[in-house]
Amino acid sequence: MFSRNVPFVGFHTILAKHENVEHLLRLVSDGLAPMGFNTLILEARYAYRCFPEYAQGTVSAEDLRLFRDTCAGHGIRLVPLHPCLSHQSAGRRGQPVPFLQAHREFLECPDVPEDAEWPDFALHSWCAANDGVFDYVLPMLDDMADACGAEAVHIGLDELFEIGRCPACRGKNIPGLFADTVKRLHDHLAGKGRATMMWGDRLLDAQTLGYSMWEGDREGIYPALQLADKITRDIIITDWHYDWHSHGYPSVETFMKEGFFVVPSFWNNADNAKHFWLHCLEDIYLGNKLNWPGRMGGLLCTHWQDMDGEIAGNMLRVIKGCLAGDIPVPDSARKGDGAAQVMAAVVPRGKLFRK
Ligand SMILES: [Zn+2]
Repeated sequence: MFSRNVPFVGFHTILAKHENVEHLLRLVSDGLAPMGFNTLILEARYAYRCFPEYAQGTVSAEDLRLFRDTCAGHGIRLVPLHPCLSHQSAGRRGQPVPFLQAHREFLECPDVPEDAEWPDFALHSWCAANDGVFDYVLPMLDDMADACGAEAVHIGLDELFEIGRCPACRGKNIPGLFADTVKRLHDHLAGKGRATMMWGDRLLDAQTLGYSMWEGDREGIYPALQLADKITRDIIITDWHYDWHSHGYPSVETFMKEGFFVVPSFWNNADNAKHFWLHCLEDIYLGNKLNWPGRMGGLLCTHWQDMDGEIAGNMLRVIKGCLAGDIPVPDSARKGDGAAQVMAAVVPRGKLFRK
């Protein structure tokens, strides 16, 4: 079972193409492992064995097994991420992922034109009131998790906007629709002995906590946090905040008070990450002092471009410099540099809080 007894030191990335597998493997062996990472959350654009016609990229089951073996050799846990409910667009915002192009009956907003763009349309989601979607999604999750030998699966669920709009959903309780989806996915994974991870943003009241509409909810979903029989407290929450918040990051405290194992998640700005991390360290102290039931469990460095050789090379340059004791110099023009700067700033073996 996925251990919560060790600090979670994670890296997340997208990987879409088979030909870039070798570059991410090099980053794992030469960068993440010596840096002290123990978890890789891999958002692969996967060529499903169960539904080859719905492939989202060219990463194969054999590729995932290669990651499984390489990660295991370094004591790194491999966690596949499969975006569920939200983030069902591919390419342009109005264009659904291949599975939902073929099954538009599962789309919450099936009539959105393919060339729709922000701010007219945010992202496709599947309908939270149509259980038929699970006949496809659960085999997809199992397919990826089996190939990864995964003890945990990240089910996404971030930045959901399209819910409660279609005829099947309209008038239904929106937090309930969201929580039912979480429970269905969680219970399926638990039945296979797997832990569930999800992004935390839809459980946060953006207005009260002072967050943007992306990193907190303004659609009426957030009361789902209180439905503890459905959003069960064994779920690991990755709580992402990439902007600087002068008022602090009250979501970490919120999740700890609710009893979750919460993992603050950073992106590509080292100053912002250090600011967020400093508040998290205070939350560890407060949680111990005030006996909050949950825990601040570690950290997650995210990377949101499709991993390739150029990015892996740039990141390795920063990481190796950091490990050698150099103070990394930010170069925002180089792809991957920002995310590697964040690693150098916050990951323990990279010496905490380098000035
Ligand atoms: Zn619906």
